[in-house]
Amino acid sequence: MDLTHVFVCGNPALDFAATLRARRTRRFEALVTPERLDAWYVESGVVDAVAPSGAADVTAAREVREAVYALVTARRQGEPYGADALATVNAAARGPAAAPQLTPAGRWTAASPAEALSSVARQAVELLSGPDVPLLKECGNPECTRIYVDRSHGMRRHWCGMESCGNRVKAAAYRARKRSAAQAG
Ligand SMILES: [Zn+2]
Repeated sequence: MDLTHVFVCGNPALDFAATLRARRTRRFEALVTPERLDAWYVESGVVDAVAPSGAADVTAAREVREAVYALVTARRQGEPYGADALATVNAAARGPAAAPQLTPAGRWTAASPAEALSSVARQAVELLSGPDVPLLKECGNPECTRIYVDRSHGMRRHWCGMESCGNRVKAAAYRARKRSAAQAG
C-alpha cells in the first residue's frame, strides 16, 4: 500500500477528491482507515493537527469527497450541480471550520475531524466560485481520473503530474511504438 498521500492537483479540494483514484476502473481508495484520513488532513496542510478520527468520520469524509467530485465534474463539463451533492458540501462547509491560531512559532491550526472536513468543504466552495474554474482539467491518463488546476502557460499541461502519470503514459506509448515497429519489421 502507498503510505504517502499525493498532492498534485493544485487545490486541496481537488486533492481530496482524488483520494479515490482510477474511478472508472480499479478505484484506489486512499482514505481506508481513520489514521489515513488524519494523515491526509495534516499532509495536505489543511490543518497542523487533528484529533483522532473514527470510522464515522471516514464515512462522512468519503461522502463529502464524492459530493466535491460530483460538483467539480459538473462544473468542468458545464452541467448543472446535483442537488444532493450541493447539499452535502454546503452542510459540511456550514459547520465550524478549523481556526488558525497565532503562536510565537507561527501559525498553528488544530482541529476536530469535523472542523477539518469543514475546512476542505470550504475550499471546494471557494474553488468552484473562483477564478480557477476554467482551468480545471482531468488528467490525460485515462485511468487516473484526477482533476487538477492547469496553471501552465496556454493550458498545455496533460497530466496531473509527470511522476504520477506523464512518465508512465509516455513509457507505455514508447513500448507500444516499439512493439508495432517490431511487428511491421
Ligand atoms: Zn494523472
